[in-house]
Order: sequence, then C-alpha cells, then structure tokens
Amino acid sequence: MKIHIITVLPELLESPFSHSILKRAIQKNLVEVQIHNLRDYSTNKHKSVDDYAFGGGAGMVMMPEPIVNCLEHLQQSNTFDEIIYMSPDGEPLKQPLANQLSTLQNIVILCGHYKGIDERIRAHFVTREISIGDYVLSGGELGAAVVCDAVIRLLPGVLSDETSALTDSFQDNLLAPPVYTRPADFRGFKVPEVLLSGNAALIDKWRHEQAVSRTKERRPGLLKE
Ligand code: SAH
Repeated sequence: MKIHIITVLPELLESPFSHSILKRAIQKNLVEVQIHNLRDYSTNKHKSVDDYAFGGGAGMVMMPEPIVNCLEHLQQSNTFDEIIYMSPDGEPLKQPLANQLSTLQNIVILCGHYKGIDERIRAHFVTREISIGDYVLSGGELGAAVVCDAVIRLLPGVLSDETSALTDSFQDNLLAPPVYTRPADFRGFKVPEVLLSGNAALIDKWRHEQAVSRTKERRPGLLKE
C-alpha cells in the first residue's frame, strides 16, 4: 500500500512513522508513506498556501492552486483509489472504515489548516472526507497519523501475530476483554483464576463473556450495530 500525505507541516509527521509498528511496516516494505510539502507547489514567490476568506471574517483559507498542482504532479505517476481530506465534518473514523481503507493500494491524505481548504477542492477533487472525532484540531496532520496507524496495523504481515488485530476492540462490534500479565498476585490483587487454568476453551469463553459485559456496560450502542 502507498500513502501520500499532503501537508504544510511535514516535520509534524516525522515521528509517528519513525517508531515501533509503523516504522517496521515501512522497513519491511509493507507500506510506503510519502510526505509532500504543500509549499513546494505554491507558485507565488512567498511560497504561501493560504489567503483571506471571500466575504470576510476571521481566519485564512487554503488556496486551491497549490493543492491541485500537488495532486496533478502526483497523478503523473500514481492512480489514486481515494483522495481523502481530513475534516471535522467528515465521515467519523471507525474500525470498519479503517478495515476498508486497508484494502486500498494507493491513497492521498490531504491535511487542512487555518479555516480549512477552499470548498471547490472538496467538491471537485476530494473523493472522501474523514473526521477523527467531534472536536477541532489545529491541523489535519495528527488526524492523518491516526488514520495511518489504524490502517497500517491491519496490513497483512505488519503485526507479528496475524490474528492480533482481529481480537482488538471494535472488530465484531465488541470491546476487548481485560488482559493481565505476571505476577499472578500483585500486592494481593489476583489474576482471574480461569486465565491460569491452561484450559483454552474455558479461557475463550471467559474472554468472550468479559467482552460482551464490558461492551454492554461501556458502549451498549455497539451491540445494536
Ligand atoms: N473551520 C473548520 C476547522 C478547521 S481546523 C471547521 O470549523 O470545521 C483546521 C484543519 O484541521 C482542518 O482543515 C482539518 O484538516 C483538520 N481537522 C481539525 N479537526 C479535525 C478532526 N476532528 N478530524 C479530522 N481533521 C480535523
């Protein structure tokens, strides 16, 4: 899979891809992440990418031209499955959307700033809009990193235990059951007996019951989905 991220703050995206699972996925060539600096596509001598909003009001708007210059440049050597714009009014990011994106070959993620991007880009160039939650961030970069993490960990070969992503919360509309490690007795707080029993069937049953009761208690809406 190839992911292109278009941003005015490439530095902000260095760290998420330089550690742990995402770093290893890139090193193993399971995913290629290319970060493109939008300013490189500005034709104006100050390399600016934003301008005042028509109609007035506070806040700058990202200009259409550098964004389209960048997209058209990338399209000379790529065919994109989706051109995604990160936006608080986009489709909320949930596990099924992450699953779906993980099946794509080549995507663009466009990060907004200031008041957002010129609406004509959204209307005519963007194919999908994603929100990471009902709150406003200062830029799309952290959201793009969240989308990338949720998607990349699903790619075959990325997690060492292939089944691991399938037992995480939200797959099957259930939250994950509680987990424990050694010691079995920590300051008098004991690990549930069944987990020490060695009986795999009983342990599976217990985990499923815990997942259901936890979901009922914390996120009953998931059970109805
Ligand atoms: N004026 C806009 C917010 C702009 S915030 C509004 O009120 O809807 C600046 C940029 O941050 C956006 O263009 C978007 O790319 C990103 N952003 C902010 N909140 C986000 C969220 N919840 N999910 C995804 N991207 C977000």
